[in-house]
Amino acid sequence: MALFKLQNVEDLYEIGQLLGSGHFGQVREVHERATGTRWAGKFLKLRKNASSRLGMERKSVEKEVEILQALQHSNIMALKDVFESRAEVVLIVELIGGGELFDFIAEKENLSENEAIEFLKQILEGVGFMHSKHIAHFDLKPENIMLLDKEVEHPHIKIIDFGLACYLTPGEEYRSLCGTPQYIAPEVINYEPLSVAADMWSIGVITYILLSGMSPFQGDADEETLRNIVGMNYEFDDQCFNQTSAMAKDFIQKLLLKDPNERMTTKDCLLHPWIKPLTRKQEANRSRSSINMKNFKKFNAKRKWKMSYNMVWACNRLCRLQLLCKTNAIEDQELRQCESDQEDTETKPASLIRRRLSSSS
Ligand code: ATP
Repeated sequence: MALFKLQNVEDLYEIGQLLGSGHFGQVREVHERATGTRWAGKFLKLRKNASSRLGMERKSVEKEVEILQALQHSNIMALKDVFESRAEVVLIVELIGGGELFDFIAEKENLSENEAIEFLKQILEGVGFMHSKHIAHFDLKPENIMLLDKEVEHPHIKIIDFGLACYLTPGEEYRSLCGTPQYIAPEVINYEPLSVAADMWSIGVITYILLSGMSPFQGDADEETLRNIVGMNYEFDDQCFNQTSAMAKDFIQKLLLKDPNERMTTKDCLLHPWIKPLTRKQEANRSRSSINMKNFKKFNAKRKWKMSYNMVWACNRLCRLQLLCKTNAIEDQELRQCESDQEDTETKPASLIRRRLSSSS
C-alpha cells in the first residue's frame, strides 16, 4: 500500500479559492506557506468502508497517484505531493490557471486550422508520452484539456484528470465501461478489450468538434449517442465543414475507425500531412482553412450550460441527502441505500457507462 504524508496539509499549505469540482471532491488553489508558491490541491473524499458508495476507494486514489508520478511531461499536469487523513487524500498538483482550451478558443473571433493544429500537436505530444508508458487516459474530452496560462502568445496545453487512466500491462486484457458517452470508443461500449487506441478515437471526436462545432455522434439521449457510435453513424455535414480542408477530414477519418488497430497512433498523427505538410500545396490548403467559429461558440455555450446543470443537480442531490441525514438522523447505512436506490432504478444500457460529473453529453 502506497504511503502518503500523514501530516496535516494545512500545516504546509494555506487553502484558497475553489477552482473546480469533480466526482469525488474539490480542486482548490493552495499556497505553500514556506515559499508562497501557488499550487492546486485536489481534495478526494475516501470511502468510509468497503460497502460505502460515497467517496473514492483508496486503491483508486493510489492508482491515480502512481500514474501521475509516472507521467512527467510538459503537457501533463504535474504532481508535487500527496497528503492523507482519515477521510480524504489531497493531491498537490501544478496550478493550471488558463482555464479550458475550448473556452479560450470560444472567446476568439476566428481561428485558422494552423492555430488549431498548434494546440492539437501539444495534445498529441502529451498523449503520446502517456501511451509510450503503456498508460491510457480513457477520459479525454474538452473539460480535461486545459491551458497553463491563457495570457501568453502561445498558450501551453496541460492534460488533467487521470481518474479513469489505466496502466495497461502488456499481455493482459483490460475492459471497462467508463467514460463520457460523446467521446468513448465503440470497443468501450461493446465491453471489448481496450488499448491506448481508445484515446485516439476520443482525439478524433475532439478534433471533429474543434473544426465544426458539431459533435459527431451526439443523439438526443445518451442511448442514441451510444447507438450512433457503435453503428459508426457520422458524416461531415457540408454546411458545418465548409471551411475545413480535405486533409483535416482525412485526419479525423483515420481516427474514427471502428477497428482500434487501424486507427492512427499519436506518432502517425504527428506525421499526417495535415499536421506536418509535405508540400507547399498542402501547407497552403491548410492555411486557407479555418474552424467554424459560429458553430463552435454555440457548441461551447451549450457544453458549459450542461456542465453547470450537472453540477447543480449533483449539489442538490447531495444537499437532499445531507438534509435527510440531519432531520431523520438516518444512519450511514441508510444514506448508502438512498444512493444505491437512485442508481439501481436506472437500467438502461447508457447507465452502465460510469459517467463523470462534468460529462457534457
Ligand atoms: P471528474 O468528476 O471529471 O472525474 P475529478 O474529481 O477527477 O473530476 P478533475 O477533473 O481533476 O476532478 O478536476 C475538477 C475540475 O477542477 C476541473 O474540471 C478543473 O476545472 C479544475 N482543476 C483540476 N485540476 C486543476 C489544476 N491543476 N489547476 C486548476 N484547476 C484544476
